Amino acid sequence: MSGAPTVTIAGAGVLGLASALALAEAGCAVTVCDPGGGPNASGVAAGMIAPVLEAVLDAEARAHLDLLMAGRDRWPGLAQRAGLTLDRSGALAVGDETWLAGVAAGFGALGLRATEIAPATALALAPGLSERAGRALLTREDWRVDPQVALPALRRVAAARGVVFRTEAVTGRGEADVLVIASGAGQGLAAAAPELSRLSPIKGHIMRFLAPAAGLTVRAETAYAAPGESGLAVGATMEPGRADTLVDFAAAAPLLAAGVKLFPKLADTRFELAAGVRAATPDGLPMVGWSAAPGVLLAVGARRNGWLLGPLVAEIVAACVTGREPGPYAAMLDPARFRG
Ligand SMILES: Cc1cc2nc3c(=O)[nH]c(=O)nc-3n(C[C@H](O)[C@H](O)[C@H](O)COP(=O)(O)OP(=O)(O)OC[C@H]3O[C@@H](n4cnc5c(N)ncnc54)[C@H](O)[C@@H]3O)c2cc1C
Repeated sequence: MSGAPTVTIAGAGVLGLASALALAEAGCAVTVCDPGGGPNASGVAAGMIAPVLEAVLDAEARAHLDLLMAGRDRWPGLAQRAGLTLDRSGALAVGDETWLAGVAAGFGALGLRATEIAPATALALAPGLSERAGRALLTREDWRVDPQVALPALRRVAAARGVVFRTEAVTGRGEADVLVIASGAGQGLAAAAPELSRLSPIKGHIMRFLAPAAGLTVRAETAYAAPGESGLAVGATMEPGRADTLVDFAAAAPLLAAGVKLFPKLADTRFELAAGVRAATPDGLPMVGWSAAPGVLLAVGARRNGWLLGPLVAEIVAACVTGREPGPYAAMLDPARFRG
């Protein structure tokens, strides 16, 4: 390569947009291509930046608290550059005594402690929460952004940095020095990078109560409820092997039941349902780094933590393209772990 590397990014989800911004800031000439209209998990997600409760509640994340914290810790910088509000008020775990004891033990196993919150305090921190919710556990370590605000904001700030956007699908590297594949669960680029065959889809339904929502994110045994600009998001189903975004009311019905149980006053509130498709690797961690295919870099497979890990993924992508040291987390995310 001579001069600034030219980079094409396939995909305008959070991984593609965060990478585009980091690459443009590093002096690359960046074009982001996305045909739109396909499954874009970033646009339907709840936007939880939740290293602690993900590590406590999700068995696949349990061993990776350090990585998840590193992703979260890059958010204040990204939020400032993109002019975004980062909600750092924390999250509550609510549920029956047996489940809460398990959650507290999960904190302990990670060397952490949640703060015990009395029922009245929980109601004050999560307005509208059921009075039957009882005591709660609080962590201030988990944050949130609103994807429906953050996605267009990332696009705007990337464009202001000179990133060019095209509404089209990418089929290969073309004339660019580097192709960054950030196409989520899309399989259209399978021929461009052999590692993409290791991705599998996990469909997720999410619902939004279309009423003003405020307070902390609430995590319960079968669902979470995250307040945002467009209402209270209650998610999310995990449907492995499903790659479509059709909304199936039967699959999403448990979310409605869980949402109303947590916030009974919303029982008659209008709601909308959506579905997105997460891409997952066999070990649950993203693939970030060079493909075996020349000039092709991967930024895929963030499973249920693409928002959380977005800035860290972008940092590694930019380091790989510009030849900088990619930092301590690059080795564990290297796509080469699935080769041979
Ligand atoms: C219901 C739900 C809730 C979630 N909640 C959270 C959460 O609270 N916190 C969190 O951290 N994560 C959450 N996630 C996970 C998170 O949304 C994903 O990990 C993340 O959005 C993945 O981002 P991405 O950029 O890799 O892919 P996507 O957002 O799926 O974007 C991929 C883009 O690539 C485009 N594309 C595909 N093929 C091509 C091609 N050939 N050329 C060009 N473009 C192409 C697609 O059109 C799409 O826009 C949730 C996911 C779901 C489904």
